[in-house]
Amino acid sequence: MAAFGETIFAEMTRLAEHTGAINLGQGFPDTDGPPFLLAEAARYLTEGVNQYPPGYGREELRTAIAADRQERYGLAYDPATEVYITVGATAGIAASILALVEPGDEVVLFEPMYDSYSAVIALAHGVRRPVTLRPSPDNGRYTFDPDELAAAITPRTRAIIVNTPHNPTGTVFTADELAWIARLCRENDLVAVTDEVYEHLTFDGTPHLPLAALPGMAERTLSVSSAGKTFSVTGWKIGWVTGPEPLVRAVATVNQYLTFTANGAQQLAVATALRHGMDWVSEQRDALHAKRDRLVAGLAAAGFQVHPPQGTYFVMADIRPLGYDDGLTFVRTLARRAGVVAIPAQVFYADERHGRHLVRFAFCKRDDVLDEAAARLRAWGDR
Ligand SMILES: *Cc1c(COP(=O)(O)O)cnc(C)c1O
Repeated sequence: MAAFGETIFAEMTRLAEHTGAINLGQGFPDTDGPPFLLAEAARYLTEGVNQYPPGYGREELRTAIAADRQERYGLAYDPATEVYITVGATAGIAASILALVEPGDEVVLFEPMYDSYSAVIALAHGVRRPVTLRPSPDNGRYTFDPDELAAAITPRTRAIIVNTPHNPTGTVFTADELAWIARLCRENDLVAVTDEVYEHLTFDGTPHLPLAALPGMAERTLSVSSAGKTFSVTGWKIGWVTGPEPLVRAVATVNQYLTFTANGAQQLAVATALRHGMDWVSEQRDALHAKRDRLVAGLAAAGFQVHPPQGTYFVMADIRPLGYDDGLTFVRTLARRAGVVAIPAQVFYADERHGRHLVRFAFCKRDDVLDEAAARLRAWGDR
């Protein structure tokens, strides 16, 4: 793991602290989760839910997740054997990859990519095969070339990681894109591991479609999601994996030696929220939609080339119109001169040349923080 070093998020947060800059780097909300959810967790803690929950997770949460998947997506999972609770989506993805990938097996994934994927593929002694998402010339939406994806699959390919809604580009994969991925999975006997942590955070009415719901995919997909982004409690680390029993059993076998189980009181609180708290999530999504528009307008006014993302907490901005071509140099300059911190997007690419001209901003922040950031960027853009 020596090659991995410290994550860019820690480095950029430190830079924000040193310079007093507004931190639009790391993707966590600066407001709290819904009061009813916090009160539920507090109640369970004081009522004695403080010992190891079962390995698969609290039955209340597994049942609530299965009911939600059925109602929302028409996906049927047995809560006893096909739903598994993990310490955030991060542990769910890690256990899935460690369960599936033998040394030398290849994993196809899209870049830019969430940072934990490469690390866990390396832990499994697997080989990553990135396929680059590129902005389409007409609307700036990032997508893949179907032939490039097909060409990335070899006889050694075991799995594909599919993150939709996608961090950092904000793309929500369409039915056609997912159908192509599903077809390649079926034809090449691949397992799909999905990362759907932003499933509720899509804008402009863009629907989130789970890959597992496509024909022939339920039996070969491990779907991963989490309460952190949905309920603005990223520190809780309550996630889940759903899939066919044999695959979920493999995940459980690995995870019993990673974390074994996840916080019980928070599991029960999330179970209540999934059943009764989804109105709060809709309001949160609408608020986030407005925040997206605020930041995108601010970035455009400052001279970045930018397109509104379809979902997630993030927007990608092209720095070339501002006369820069290296994101890392740029964010260091921006922190000192403009007082705003972003993440250089090259860290999300296997070949960093593909993302050198891009930086990622998070808009899951209070309106006054976004307005101040936009004002600082505009003032700096007018320099
Ligand atoms: C935040 C995030 C995660 C981590 O989720 P946790 O539940 O906090 O572990 C995983 N994948 C993506 C794409 C994320 O943005």
